[in-house]
Amino acid sequence: MNAIQTQASCADSSESDSLSVEEALQHIQMQLPVIDTCEYIPLHEALGRVLAAPIISPRNVPAHVNSAMDGYAIMAADLPATGVQTLEVIGSAWAGKSFTDIVRRGQCVRIMTGAVMPVGTDTVVIQEHVEVQGAQIRFMAGEKAGQNVRQAGEDLAIGQVVLEAGKYLNPAELGLLASLGFAEVQVKRRLRVAFFSTGDELCSVGQTLGAGQVYDSNRYTLYGMLQRLAVDILDMGVVRDQHEALQQVLNTAAAQADVIISSGGVSVGETDFTKQVLSELGQIHFWKIAMKPGRPLAFGSVQGRAFFGLPGNPVAVMVAFYQFVQPALRKMQGGTYENLLFKARSLSAFKKKLGRTEFIRARFEKAESGEWQVQRIGEQGSGILRSMSEANCFIVLPSPQGDVAQGDWVEVQAFVGLV
Ligand code: AMP
Ligand code: MG
Repeated sequence: MNAIQTQASCADSSESDSLSVEEALQHIQMQLPVIDTCEYIPLHEALGRVLAAPIISPRNVPAHVNSAMDGYAIMAADLPATGVQTLEVIGSAWAGKSFTDIVRRGQCVRIMTGAVMPVGTDTVVIQEHVEVQGAQIRFMAGEKAGQNVRQAGEDLAIGQVVLEAGKYLNPAELGLLASLGFAEVQVKRRLRVAFFSTGDELCSVGQTLGAGQVYDSNRYTLYGMLQRLAVDILDMGVVRDQHEALQQVLNTAAAQADVIISSGGVSVGETDFTKQVLSELGQIHFWKIAMKPGRPLAFGSVQGRAFFGLPGNPVAVMVAFYQFVQPALRKMQGGTYENLLFKARSLSAFKKKLGRTEFIRARFEKAESGEWQVQRIGEQGSGILRSMSEANCFIVLPSPQGDVAQGDWVEVQAFVGLV
């Protein structure tokens, strides 16, 4: 356990007593409980929430056999083998307004997309293939029996498992649940996450910056990252580097939240003080992680609540959040998700130290050749937030990887997901 209790700093270059990103993630995931409390909420509030139980379809979707196109509903028996067919139009069927008479041989019904197929019909000839002459239509051979018709239950069949428990509800799922008639849905309760910044040098926005002070940006980054995860957020403000202040905020946070996140105070020179306070209230490992940026990380529990002590540097906060905290919160939410990584050709050459994972701010784009290309962007210092804003991805260079040459394939983690 020595290896996971050593102190760390961003500047430290020795990797021998470090934990790999994968090991740290595994340690973290192993120790976290999955929340088991559920609640019913209105469907329109369910975006980003995690399904607590599987959804079984209570009905067929679509409920009725209906037309997929605007055209004429006919019976397949009336399709000509060769030449031209003439049929009598005996009425119209609209979405929401069905044609209720029976259709017989030689007859057809004008039909709109989504309208229920009239009794006796099974095929739709699209209007573009039809010549209208008064109350008659003419069309040529070549149409296929059963075409342009959506069968009942074609999308979802009654009794079918539509969504598994653990599914994150995205816009498609909200629509799917609505299409089945659900007004409410059973989801896991929201995680409650408390966070605060530490540092005597921090000044809150809206106040005048004093000599040697910096504005507290981490709390805004953290707030933004947490908002995306549909958790309840408790902003505990700025905490000074004082024993009592830290003790107090940790106690308050632990009383209200499932997870506590702090930034700052976990690198060499600061750990003695934070270590003392944290060890009084819980069990915390002070890790040195073989990664750049985001090397120091504290993880453990404070009064039974999961605790993450993120580094202070603004980019390190974001990298550590996305690599460790976000997967941890996902695990606790009980949701299943995909970690989207893909390969792109590197337009930059750069040095890479063996034995640590590096997250490089970069931009990917599609080349004219159709290949994905990626270019390192901006200054890579762990305090330089601007390049985080300019970037649209991380190039993720795994621990065993050495220097990257221009044209090499590298792994890319995109910042933006589509849904
Ligand atoms: P620390 O890990 O507390 O030594 O902080 C490392 C660096 O990050 C220092 O330069 C801090 O001033 C800076 N820093 C720490 N917390 C914040 C914050 N909340 N907002 C902006 N910068 C911060
Ligand atoms: Mg500090």
